[in-house]
Amino acid sequence: MAPTLPTQAEIVIIGGGIVGCSVAYHLTKLGKKDVLLLERKKLTSGTTWHAAGLVRAMLYSGNLTKLAKYTTELYTTLEKETGQATGFKQNGSISIATNEERWDELRRGASMARAFGVPAEPISAKKVQELWPLMNVKDVIGAIFFAKDGQTNPADTAMALAKGARQGGARILEDCKVMGVVVKNGRAVGLKTEAGDVSAEIVVNCAGMWGREVGQWAGAAVPLHACEHFYVVTEPMGVPSTLPVMRDMDACAYYKEDAGKILVGAFEPKAKPWGMDGIPDDFCFTELPEDFDHFQPVLEGAIHRVPKLGEVGIRKFFNGPESFTTDQRYLLGPAAELENFYVAAGFNSIGIQSAGGAGMALAHWIAEGHPPFDLWDVDIRRVVPHQNGKAFLVDRVSEALGLLYAMHWPYRQFATARGVRRTPLYERLKAHNACFGEVAGWERANWFAPDGVEPKYEYSFKRQNWFASSGEECRATRNAVGLFDQSTFAKFSVRGADAEAVLQRICANDVGGAPGRAVYTQWLNERGGIEADLTVTRLADDAYMVVTAAATARRDWLWLKQHIPADARVAVEDVTAAFAVLGVMGPNSRALLQTLTPADLSNASFPFGASREIEMGYASVRASRISYMGELGWELYVPTDHAVSVFDCILEQGSAHGLRLCGMHAMDSLRIEKAYRHWGHDIGEEDTPIEAGLGFVVAFDKKAPFIGRDALLKQKNQPKLGKRLVQFALEDPAPLLYHNEPIYRDGALVGYTSSAAYGHTLGRAIALGYVNAPDGVDQAYIDSGKFEIEVACERQPARASLRPLYDPKSLRMRV
Ligand SMILES: Cc1cc2nc3c(=O)[nH]c(=O)nc-3n(C[C@H](O)[C@H](O)[C@H](O)COP(=O)(O)OP(=O)(O)OC[C@H]3O[C@@H](n4cnc5c(N)ncnc54)[C@H](O)[C@@H]3O)c2cc1C
Repeated sequence: MAPTLPTQAEIVIIGGGIVGCSVAYHLTKLGKKDVLLLERKKLTSGTTWHAAGLVRAMLYSGNLTKLAKYTTELYTTLEKETGQATGFKQNGSISIATNEERWDELRRGASMARAFGVPAEPISAKKVQELWPLMNVKDVIGAIFFAKDGQTNPADTAMALAKGARQGGARILEDCKVMGVVVKNGRAVGLKTEAGDVSAEIVVNCAGMWGREVGQWAGAAVPLHACEHFYVVTEPMGVPSTLPVMRDMDACAYYKEDAGKILVGAFEPKAKPWGMDGIPDDFCFTELPEDFDHFQPVLEGAIHRVPKLGEVGIRKFFNGPESFTTDQRYLLGPAAELENFYVAAGFNSIGIQSAGGAGMALAHWIAEGHPPFDLWDVDIRRVVPHQNGKAFLVDRVSEALGLLYAMHWPYRQFATARGVRRTPLYERLKAHNACFGEVAGWERANWFAPDGVEPKYEYSFKRQNWFASSGEECRATRNAVGLFDQSTFAKFSVRGADAEAVLQRICANDVGGAPGRAVYTQWLNERGGIEADLTVTRLADDAYMVVTAAATARRDWLWLKQHIPADARVAVEDVTAAFAVLGVMGPNSRALLQTLTPADLSNASFPFGASREIEMGYASVRASRISYMGELGWELYVPTDHAVSVFDCILEQGSAHGLRLCGMHAMDSLRIEKAYRHWGHDIGEEDTPIEAGLGFVVAFDKKAPFIGRDALLKQKNQPKLGKRLVQFALEDPAPLLYHNEPIYRDGALVGYTSSAAYGHTLGRAIALGYVNAPDGVDQAYIDSGKFEIEVACERQPARASLRPLYDPKSLRMRV
């Protein structure tokens, strides 16, 4: 019988997998009663029913770990609350290493877990044997035990969430397929279903591997694609139910107890994308055909690891589809393309362990208009439209699945679907032996290999093969001059009679004043948190250029558009592709550029912060005297068609001034030495400029009040700050830092590093990180403590400073 569909509901969720059920459950917990969940077939019949059910208490960032911890806590109490068994148990998990590099990675991972308050203990092979008696530990050189990890029964857990949602007032309709999203004036206002239409104030896309198609109905990019995902279950082996989960990532395999049997699952290096021609309409509790040849290498490794597997039969060979995204992170939050349309999809094989936290976070996001804390790692606004293309997705997801268990090398780059966006200088940089990395589809020169050396990463947790070259690039910038291709910066033109008024309200700094000035500023939310970190240059009385990072281009663009009042006389345009940006940075930059321009570049005539149109070679460029590297220098905004000629001129003249081409790794190292913040690492929507040490660029006194001013003033008037961004340098020059390492003061955990690199000028690893203390963090607190940073389970003494360790008075930029 056709289900009875209401004609309207406040919030309608598409999809009754574990994620949709969790969103419904959490919305009712926040007091939302008018919640309707529509499932095309039966609850859990998509991907959820067949998951292995591994649940980890940690993910790769502090806030995602908060969500993972929340999930484990929720699953501990869900059965009692709802009366529906979940099968959740916390036997812990063991990750083993069979080579030194993996052991390095695991120990660094254990330190990261501790940074986020998750217990993680290195254990010996002997101890592993005790905990997992069936295991062959001959080649195991070490392991980490995660006491809070566990496993659950996915279908039962989803049903418990659905039951809890119903108990909270939500309505759940099965066998009700959604056929389309109704969009009016840029907002989602309802759905078309097999059973009729339903109007809605909010639509939530929890359609799992169907999520991309559902997004397309609404005009929203939800880039995900299914891949085949395999496991086998043995005949009964009498395995105790207390057995911890075990991961042997070097052999691409995980193991769990399953009613006395063993389940062995795989994350093989090259996955098989599935459903390229669409998902069959009758898909419901569907299994995909076995592919024994594909699974065989994993099984061979499994028999080596657990020899008894060679003696028992396989009861079940399972192959099911799961959706993967282009960067292995799920997609959460409001879609960029229309209002009132939210997404929680693309769970990359961690949907069971993520569902509790993701559902909680999205429910808050919907109810309160912003996430409960910074969730940029998974925020769908990071998506770049080209990523939703089928060809891109198919190529990229075949790599993404395997990366879950591959080595998580620092600076690791994707191998597939590359070369999508190139700056005008790409071919020139390539000819100069650049090694490229990718951000938002852009190819960026990360470092330059010496002549005759192949520009290719050789990954390691120790100094990688580019360490020396990048060091040379840093030294050239500090001592002579470096040339950086910064063309991937996003550039927005803001024009019109109200441009100043609009930007003064959005920017915390004062962007008024005469044209010809580049102003560093943050964009804040009402809570005083930093939504964006960028420069705003006044080109004319009624014209500005906003420049921001490639990775946040879409998010910042949206923020700008959303904060322009409907009646404002302002036109905005994304002009990113119209300009290349050349960063000419270093003490010799003035002498070099002066040979190419009639403009007076002296300090008196062209002071720090000035921005003007000048001739450069045969072109007219906008030169802005600012620097992210902390040296005298200019950013040159060059019309794209002139980019190569200007580049060639600078390079030709540069040799007389010690010019060197420099990459993004050098830029990152130089900016961390100077303690310049990076949005997404060191600052985000939970951090205020005052906590981040950026109070000096907040214009409290400007005439027009800016968004977030009241919240910031309140904080400014507090006698002490419980959290502050601090810079660190390790005493020992040997160990390397990558970020997410725990910070201790006098033996107590006080925070973790937010970004890190090797500082070639300071001659040691350097980092930024928030230090938290209930009684306040000030200079005296910093000076009176003994700081240590934990690297691979060993604590390293560190120097801490509230002021930049390199050029604290910023004299070098102002000469
Ligand atoms: C072999 C395997 C092992 C796994 N092991 C683990 C594990 O150990 N731990 C872990 O955390 N994760 C694991 N996963 C991943 C996990 O199963 C998924 O991430 C999770 O189930 C995703 O849940 P979901 O709700 O997003 O998607 P789904 O469960 O697929 O739910 C989406 C629902 O939307 C419905 N829907 C789609 N379109 C419409 C429409 N038009 N109208 C109405 N309804 C619609 C579908 O019918 C479906 O029920 C595993 C996955 C596989 C394949």
